[in-house]
Amino acid sequence: MDVKLTRRQFFKVCAAGMGTSSLGVLGFAPSAALAEVREFKLARTTETRNTCPYCSVGCGIIMYSLGDGAKNAQSEIIHIEGDADHPVNRGTLCPKGAGLLDFVHSPNRLKYPEYRAPGSSEWKRISWDEAFDKIARHIKDDRDQNFQAKNAEGVTVNRLLSLGMLAASASSNETGYLTHKFARSLGLLAFDNQARV
Ligand code: SF4
Repeated sequence: MDVKLTRRQFFKVCAAGMGTSSLGVLGFAPSAALAEVREFKLARTTETRNTCPYCSVGCGIIMYSLGDGAKNAQSEIIHIEGDADHPVNRGTLCPKGAGLLDFVHSPNRLKYPEYRAPGSSEWKRISWDEAFDKIARHIKDDRDQNFQAKNAEGVTVNRLLSLGMLAASASSNETGYLTHKFARSLGLLAFDNQARV
């Protein structure tokens, strides 16, 4: 039978195999040894590939979650490690990336948009639809008011100097490309990012 394993599956099998064979070396019978080995903690997890959100290096990560997606079951990420198949980091992570699990489960992590009205000191939770509508409205109004097609000498400049954009680093090259197109199509010059855009 031709059995093909990915690199990660190979490591899983090796980890379980090393556990059982080590017990065998210590004098346990193989059947007893197999029965005593604790289940490898990632064996029943779902793997999801992602990109480390911290810096522009863009290391690939694999997030392992428990939970079968049933209606009342909430899946939970229990382990994160570098993606050995990723061309950027080949499975390695720096200390920040290695601490991503704490980032994911931090009680301070912002998971939804918030809005602070002018003059107010309170942040209020709003829906994503509401947030997108507000952002689009502000951009449109600002652009209608301040877009410059030509400068004082009559040279075509097509620029919008009253608005800036700061984008995140956890994007793929493709997302970065589209973000760049979007910003420049508005006429934005003040556009900053980490290295991927
Ligand atoms: S693991 Fe470290 S080097 Fe890699 S993207 Fe994350 S912060 Fe940057």
